[in-house]
Amino acid sequence: MIEIKDLHKSYHMGNNSLHVLKGINFNVKEGELVSIMGSSGSGKSTLLNILGMLDEADKGTYHLDNVPIKNLNEKIAARYRNEFLGFIFQSFNLINYKSAVDNVALPLYYKGISRKERTEKAEHYLEKVGLGPWSHHLPSELSGGQKQRVAIARALASEPKVLLADEPTGALDTTTSYEVMDLIQGINDEGKTILVVTHEDDIAHMTKRIVNLKDGVIIDDSTVEQVRAKQNV
Ligand code: ADP
Ligand code: MG
Repeated sequence: MIEIKDLHKSYHMGNNSLHVLKGINFNVKEGELVSIMGSSGSGKSTLLNILGMLDEADKGTYHLDNVPIKNLNEKIAARYRNEFLGFIFQSFNLINYKSAVDNVALPLYYKGISRKERTEKAEHYLEKVGLGPWSHHLPSELSGGQKQRVAIARALASEPKVLLADEPTGALDTTTSYEVMDLIQGINDEGKTILVVTHEDDIAHMTKRIVNLKDGVIIDDSTVEQVRAKQNV
């Protein structure tokens, strides 16, 4: 589903440049639940943004569902992004003056889906994340965990092939974080390919495979069982 080879990325600020990704290689197969773990500044968001086609690498190749992602014009990039990818962010990124159901339905409007179908789909996915009774509430009337569930429903409503989540539990307390990860596990159990970026070890352990990023290099890429076995040595 995702294949990246020798990915490099630098940021340039005046005369300074910062080499953030230094030759990243990894593949993600359909149906995997993978975390990209590393401390703050290790390059996780930079990597996820490239995977999400929100940014481009300086060097290396990226194939998403066998499509080479390079030098695409913005129109085609936007189409692939909408077709292939769903995003979940730490800060939820909900529209404050729209109800839960309208937040979930909004991306479907941009896909040209009829009002009736938008509402049906939005209600369906809100049910799925356990927020059926809350569909007409505003974000300000919801808890952090509920807001993240709305954001997850919104990402799912577009029926993407891959879900990309950047610190989805970063703004939540521990109990709520685990609940959100339970939900993400359930969505993966139904077959969705999911990548979760996190700096928290216990969150990474709720995925199936941990890709450990340090200073722009993958220093370990193991299943959770393998990681546990190593830690118990
Ligand atoms: P992480 O998500 O792991 O915390 P990031 O990918 O956000 O790491 O950042 C990696 C490094 O790149 C950090 O040192 C950060 O300050 C820097 N960085 C991130 N985005 C930009 C940018 N747009 N311009 C310049 N530097 C950036
Ligand atoms: Mg980050």
